[in-house]
Amino acid sequence: MRRLHRLLAIAFIALLSAWVQAQPAPLILVSIDGFRPDYLERGVTPVLSRLARDGVLASQGMRPSFPSLTFPNHYTLVTGLTPDHHGVVNNTMTDEKIPDVLFTLGNRAALADRRWWDGATPIWVSAEQQGLKSATMFWPGSDVDIQGVRPSDWRAYDHNFPADARVDQVLEWMDRPLATRPDFVTLYFEAVDTAGHRYGPQGAQTTAAVASVDKALGRLIQGLATRGLLPQANLVILSDHGMASLSPQRVVLLDEMLDTASVRRFIPYGPLIGLTPLAGKEAQVKQSLAQPHEHVQCWPKAELPARFDYGRNARVPPFICLAEIEWSLATRESMARNPPGGGSHGFDPDDPQMAALFIAHGPAFVRGAALESFSNVDVYPLLARLLGIRPQPHQGRLETFMPVLTRVP
Ligand code: AMP
Ligand code: ZN
Ligand code: ZN
Repeated sequence: MRRLHRLLAIAFIALLSAWVQAQPAPLILVSIDGFRPDYLERGVTPVLSRLARDGVLASQGMRPSFPSLTFPNHYTLVTGLTPDHHGVVNNTMTDEKIPDVLFTLGNRAALADRRWWDGATPIWVSAEQQGLKSATMFWPGSDVDIQGVRPSDWRAYDHNFPADARVDQVLEWMDRPLATRPDFVTLYFEAVDTAGHRYGPQGAQTTAAVASVDKALGRLIQGLATRGLLPQANLVILSDHGMASLSPQRVVLLDEMLDTASVRRFIPYGPLIGLTPLAGKEAQVKQSLAQPHEHVQCWPKAELPARFDYGRNARVPPFICLAEIEWSLATRESMARNPPGGGSHGFDPDDPQMAALFIAHGPAFVRGAALESFSNVDVYPLLARLLGIRPQPHQGRLETFMPVLTRVP
């Protein structure tokens, strides 16, 4: 009888250890919105600089997808698809199949409608479907029932939720017993982007925001270390795009390019606008936009440069105009109301000022390795590999990371 007990105990321990081994190391994906890789050189990022030194750094940054805006790129990072393919083609968009709705960051009801997101499967949905647990401390789309699935834990987006409280929520999740601890966690900070827009990439307040997010990350690292989790956890810390200065002296007036009464549904100012001609005005708009314009380039959606991989999606408006780096498109009316200043993004993703941050740290990564520039669609197959899940069809290349992975699971 005693022997049987012993055998049962051994079998139980063997089963338990096999299960523990099958559970991947926790993966924490952190996004610092609008963080330009050169912010690391300002002397205010001891935590990030140390993580980069002890892990992997994309020294020239990571190339965002077109357009270099927040929602399209956050969805690219978790799907491995460019915005044209995943369907979140802009922060502001319309869809004839979802009539009379303008998807914008201010329209909570539209943001929560899964039809805008269902064109792709984010990694937390695949993780849940394949038996892992995910928990999201904000990420665009993570509070939506995409494909009918939400992360095991998620929070409704709240701009005012303090950075330290976000970190504490992640640590609280990590305190759970193994069986209920999340395998995949996201953590999002907007402060650097917000300051970058208001004060520009060179603004002292932007540097202060960089320092404050670095401090919050210090709290995360300290919290992981005291729990003994720092050697186990894999951290991928990145941004969605960079930031460039704007000025009221560098403006192209749309009123001088075309008859603004001939178009509708355009975001009237900024680095990038989409135009839809009114019925009967198509030829006139096309002709006006085909003229050369200084500091701006316009294309019919079918003729965008191939490197943008953009324009086939029905949600992309018929014409796209893109300003030269640091220039803005505006109307006389928008100039009077809200002249450009501070900073913005949305410019050509190949411009160095639009490059995004990428740092990876943890047992899966070689210490002190550097990566050449790569496209942000590559992040998705990396995340899938770290989690040990089957990826959905995607446009990324896992090969990008092969030289910096310690063991290829
Ligand atoms: P952008 O206009 O491209 O600079 O977008 C950045 C803004 O997106 C941030 O300032 C946030 O207010 C907003 N944002 C980020 N994540 C979310 C989210 N999950 N839900 C709603 N808004 C968000
Ligand atoms: Zn952003
Ligand atoms: Zn922004």
